[in-house]
Amino acid sequence: MLAFAFVLLCTLASALANQVFLGSSSTLTSCLVNNSLNFEVSHNSTWPNDTTPFNLRYLGHYTPAAIVYPTLTSHVVAAVKCANESGIHVSALSGGHSYSASGYGSQNGTLVIMFRDMAQITYNSSDATATIQPGARLGDVALELNKHGRAMAHGLCPYVGVGGHAGFGGWGLSSRSWGLLIDQVVAADLVLANGTERHVSDLQYPDLFWAIRGASSSFGIVTQYIFKTHQAPATVIRYAYGYQNPNLSEDAFAKLLTSYQTWGYTAPKEIGIVANVWNGGKLVELGGYYMGNLSDFTRISCSLLQATGSPNTMYVENRTWVAALIEVAGATTLSTIGKPDDPRTFFAKSLVTPTHSPLKNTSLAMFARYFAQASIPPTTSWFVQFELWGGRDSVIMSIPANGTAYPHRDHLWTIQFYAYSDATWSETDTNFVNGMVSAITYNMDGTTLGAYANYIDPTLTGWQSKYYAGNYARLAAIQKEVDPRGVFMKAQNIGAPEILPV
Ligand SMILES: Cc1cc2nc3c(=O)[nH]c(=O)nc-3n(C[C@H](O)[C@H](O)[C@H](O)COP(=O)(O)OP(=O)(O)OC[C@H]3O[C@@H](n4cnc5c(N)ncnc54)[C@H](O)[C@@H]3O)c2cc1C
Repeated sequence: MLAFAFVLLCTLASALANQVFLGSSSTLTSCLVNNSLNFEVSHNSTWPNDTTPFNLRYLGHYTPAAIVYPTLTSHVVAAVKCANESGIHVSALSGGHSYSASGYGSQNGTLVIMFRDMAQITYNSSDATATIQPGARLGDVALELNKHGRAMAHGLCPYVGVGGHAGFGGWGLSSRSWGLLIDQVVAADLVLANGTERHVSDLQYPDLFWAIRGASSSFGIVTQYIFKTHQAPATVIRYAYGYQNPNLSEDAFAKLLTSYQTWGYTAPKEIGIVANVWNGGKLVELGGYYMGNLSDFTRISCSLLQATGSPNTMYVENRTWVAALIEVAGATTLSTIGKPDDPRTFFAKSLVTPTHSPLKNTSLAMFARYFAQASIPPTTSWFVQFELWGGRDSVIMSIPANGTAYPHRDHLWTIQFYAYSDATWSETDTNFVNGMVSAITYNMDGTTLGAYANYIDPTLTGWQSKYYAGNYARLAAIQKEVDPRGVFMKAQNIGAPEILPV
């Protein structure tokens, strides 16, 4: 990643202090007690567990003022009003899987509203929608909908929460057929910064409805979503093609990836595909699932393999919908009930590539040279995912750039650069990830590359345009109107300053 050379133009803390007032913890506690809210503060025995972020790089970074556990929307309303009275910030935490622990806010003393106990998933057979509370996890959503023969497009990890995932995008292997998770939202209920409740849809408060589909945490606390659902496929074709070559040359690597890129422009929407480049770069795996029958898949995979060349390993299997979701998650079950996820220590960055500016052969060759030569601690592992979001008939691309707050519609790939460590995170690790991005953007001057806010990167400079492109100005205007005092303000929320402490 970009050499941790993020310049401290000003600190987030001082900028936020301009917008919110000084809080008093006793005022807050009295208010929470008076409203009979279920909450905990730092002397509770469950506090260390409940303040441990999924990304252990942020362990101990932010200490909340208190954590509230609502079971009803009225509890969220009361909590937001208490925070207002006490002059402190509020942040929602749903699945807790933010890469930057952003559910805890981005400074000490935030009132965290944790949706652990608001995780209901209800399928409405009358209109084939699903009403889902933000604390529900993707794996449990998939299982519950599957009981009714229904499904939605969403991310691969069963533990990711609907609250954050549906706030900033929500991509999965069926997104080229069904869109991002935000594209399946038909309505939502929010609590605004002043404690007012809003039901938002295309017809009611359309500006807010637009804004929460890509930047939700800046505008309100979502207490439930209504999603359209799709018929779950009885089976899908699971496939993986492995290109293993201890001597994969820079040129061979670049050719493989550019061939996959070229093929992606015309790939049918039924195919979900990612190229994973694993640790060391000597294994590239093209895999995912196809939402159709084997004979159609055979034709499509032939065109892919004609472009990319013969793989060393090949895996093609018919799988039930749920079995395929389990496999792509690398899990043994989709259920998360009673089994917490294992936190880890990691850092990730993303790039979103415009359709009209494919990555160049020279850029991919430079990337291959970089990862072959860079040194990282032996306790650090990495992978890079080239996720195909676009292509001729991808549903993600069928929506105009200003159709939702999420703007990157005319784009081909979202690339995720991810490193994780079993040891204490070091600056060498961070520099390694920054270096991957610098290498792959070599020779790409003049191309505007975006970033994906659900792969949040608190070191990203210019995040406003990289996440939101031409939609930022409209988002900023709506934010000023609905949250003028900055009750929800935190790092990389709309209206926040450029620089962020890490
Ligand atoms: C292991 C792993 C796998 C992933 N796989 C994918 C993937 O396949 N596809 C993909 O697109 N993304 C993926 N992601 C990224 C994921 O979509 C984001 O991290 C997402 O924001 C997490 O949502 P959460 O509710 O779990 O997180 P939280 O940490 O609870 O929340 C994240 C952000 O959303 C805000 N938020 C949460 N709830 C609400 C609410 N009710 N109202 C308003 N704002 C809210 C929080 O304040 C915070 O800013 C993955 C992440 C991880 C860790």
